[in-house]
Amino acid sequence: MNARPCTKVACHEEAVSTLTYVYADSTVVVGPLSDRVEPHGYDLCARHASSLSVPQGWQVLRRVVLGHDN
Ligand SMILES: [Zn+2]
Repeated sequence: MNARPCTKVACHEEAVSTLTYVYADSTVVVGPLSDRVEPHGYDLCARHASSLSVPQGWQVLRRVVLGHDN
């Protein structure tokens, strides 16, 4: 068991996505949970990953896992 919790305060759901802020491109990358903890990454549960809000002027890039194309 190496499940990690959501990093949102007061949320105790299991994280399923990792958020990474790419400051140079003003982009927030949402991808599958990373294998290792990244220094600038934030682990989020499904609910918080889908209700994500980003700073004005930023864009969200969602990386989906290939192979589940239905
Ligand atoms: Zn959460």
